[in-house]
Amino acid sequence: MAKEELECSFCGRKKPETNLLIAGLDAHICDRCIEQAHGIVIEESKQSDSSDLSAELKLRKPQQIKNFLDEYIIGQGATKKVMSVAVYNHYKRLLQPPSKDDIEIQKSNIIMVGQTGTGKTLMAKTIAKMLNVPLAIVDATVLTEAGYVGEDVESILTRLLQAADYNLEKAEKGIVFIDEIDKIARKSDNPSITRDVSGEGVQQALLKLLEGTVVNVPPKGGRKHPDQKFIEVNTENILFIAGGAFDGIDRVISKRLNMQAVGYSASMSDDVVDQEHLLQYIIPKDLKDFGLIPEIIGRLPVLTYMDPLDADTLRAILTEPKNAIIKQYKKLFEMDEIEFSITDGALGFIVGKAIEYKLGARGLRSLCEEILTDAMFELPSSNEKKFNVTKAYAEEKLSKTTLKKLKAVS
Ligand code: ADP
Repeated sequence: MAKEELECSFCGRKKPETNLLIAGLDAHICDRCIEQAHGIVIEESKQSDSSDLSAELKLRKPQQIKNFLDEYIIGQGATKKVMSVAVYNHYKRLLQPPSKDDIEIQKSNIIMVGQTGTGKTLMAKTIAKMLNVPLAIVDATVLTEAGYVGEDVESILTRLLQAADYNLEKAEKGIVFIDEIDKIARKSDNPSITRDVSGEGVQQALLKLLEGTVVNVPPKGGRKHPDQKFIEVNTENILFIAGGAFDGIDRVISKRLNMQAVGYSASMSDDVVDQEHLLQYIIPKDLKDFGLIPEIIGRLPVLTYMDPLDADTLRAILTEPKNAIIKQYKKLFEMDEIEFSITDGALGFIVGKAIEYKLGARGLRSLCEEILTDAMFELPSSNEKKFNVTKAYAEEKLSKTTLKKLKAVS
């Protein structure tokens, strides 16, 4: 074939009518057809993606989501239920066809209130694991308003991109866990602060992200810089979960409950209020009174709470979850063909120490490490085939350590 007669085998355009004609074995394709074909490929893969999603949705009803959470997280029944529904609805929202009616399902961003170490991060991690989506865990305390020392709010999305190995599509369906959201509450009662750059300003900056917007994200993090290339990230389908201890919020709740009791009929005040567990009565207004701006609260519509961990829960955390600490040690010793066991007395002792030293669930691992390090050092090169940890053994090993050290590692 003469050179000037070359044409695209798909659309028939002659070579001079194309920008580029690529030769195959015995066919040619022009740049326009490549683009069109590329569009079809993308469209097809999107469709198979959403059918993955609908298969997933069929597979995991709220009850199943809760069952999955149960495998990893002890207790926290109320929050698990709320989370299961929120995650289920989030999925439904992603599957929503372009709206024919005017009903648009809002994002079900979540806020969890509960003491540190009660499993808030674990909850977010477990959900990300179940959905197989990337997760970014960020600390609200490092965020500041743009232009001040600290990180811009966009850095949250840099983390998510990193967690997704820079796969934009994956990142845009990911989960962001913002820890210590309570630390950016408005500090209006502090007169020495003239400009609240890490409080209300950050809340304002977060608003857009939570709601769903396209953000220019510096892929390597750091400050925005005019010469830097940005990746456009759409936060529309990113699920945000915020967590915070909200120290002192029980007083806010208690005050409100008392006022209600006074304001209503006497029968109201007869309602038994569980003073020990006030968090269960939390409502969005309490967060506002604590210092979150109403707009932020509105964009975190699912409010839930975490119970403090009592001795029974701590003990269960040691032994029951799928990857419980004790199960992990068992496996480690098993690799050296050593049968590991621990008595109830020793478990009780560890739990008691975690409570006494106020280490919470995080302290359980550091306590176990202290007790078991000697054995993990010595036993692999001995002939021992069994190792049983008793209360006396645990006591002896722990007497050699200091509280300071335990706190430092937990
Ligand atoms: P938070 O985010 O509330 O401060 P984390 O989720 O980081 O707490 O919890 C710290 C650790 O304690 C977790 O890695 C987990 O091992 C353990 N833990 C806490 N609460 C629970 C729970 N309810 N069930 C199982 N493990 C828990």
